[in-house]
Amino acid sequence: MSLPKVHEIPIGGIITEPGSSRRNLTGGWRSLRPVIHDERCIRCRVCWMYCPEGTIKEVRGEFVVKGHKYQVKYEIDYNYCKGCGICAHECPVKAIEMVPET
Ligand code: SF4
Ligand code: SF4
Repeated sequence: MSLPKVHEIPIGGIITEPGSSRRNLTGGWRSLRPVIHDERCIRCRVCWMYCPEGTIKEVRGEFVVKGHKYQVKYEIDYNYCKGCGICAHECPVKAIEMVPET
């Protein structure tokens, strides 16, 4: 899906339809990429709460990590993650690493 041309944007940049920001894949702005090391994650949800873009998804299911069973894991939607690093900064066990975007 393509973004509108300048002359197609409403005056004042007003939003004329709900959900239109989904078309703007802000992940392209990123220079650093957060990577979750699942084996270190204690499922505290802090990253999910702090991400300003709402790009960290809580996925429900049965997951076994190093012999431990979990019913949840966290995944990042790289289409919209801007690479701000807040999740990595706030993670209490440093389970999120920021790596250069390639
Ligand atoms: S903040 Fe860290 S430990 Fe907590 S859910 Fe996110 S990745 Fe896991
Ligand atoms: S780097 Fe920023 S935008 Fe990306 S998942 Fe972490 S907190 Fe969200």
